[in-house]
Amino acid sequence: MVHFEIVRGDITRFPAEAIVNAANRYLEHGGGVAYAIAKAAVGDVREYIRISKEAMQEQVGKDYVEHGEVVVTPAMRLEKDGIKYVIHTVGPYCGGVWDGDKKEKLRKAILGALRKADELGVKTIAFPAISAGIYGCPLEEVVKTFKEVVEKFSKEAKSVEKVYLVLYSEESYRKALEVLNG
Ligand code: ADP
Repeated sequence: MVHFEIVRGDITRFPAEAIVNAANRYLEHGGGVAYAIAKAAVGDVREYIRISKEAMQEQVGKDYVEHGEVVVTPAMRLEKDGIKYVIHTVGPYCGGVWDGDKKEKLRKAILGALRKADELGVKTIAFPAISAGIYGCPLEEVVKTFKEVVEKFSKEAKSVEKVYLVLYSEESYRKALEVLNG
């Protein structure tokens, strides 16, 4: 059984073997958690964008990624906290609107990252609340979707033992806990 836990913190300092980035499809890392990860990993965000785009060409053979496709980059400076990989995945853009299509895209984004972590042989993986920031999806629905996808993934997981959903603000952390427990 894979253990799923909601924690409060900064994902760039979270000691999981793999952390997930809520990226855009071009891996531009311009704002939000993507910018924070790029900044913490190398300092020069443009350099991390260059590394990410190169990895995208090598790993998916295109200059964009679809929901469910992921790209792995090294953790670089984040290795001091035990982080080995950054897995970039792309969630849906909601702009406040939630429906079955958004949910399916989010499911794919989460599952893609979990399967890649398994393939990499990591035991622990930490996610930010994908799509619940600039992409404007309701946090409650994002948390529910995480819970469902991790439960499903539990049945196929080989290496992954712990999945953390890391919430940045106290308010979002409380809200997420309510969804999980309520
Ligand atoms: P998206 O475009 O997918 O919505 P964002 O980066 O805007 O992605 O936000 C995703 C979530 O990550 C938001 O809930 C935001 O508050 C959160 N976030 C931002 N910075 C960090 C961080 N350093 N650690 C963890 N979560 C973060």
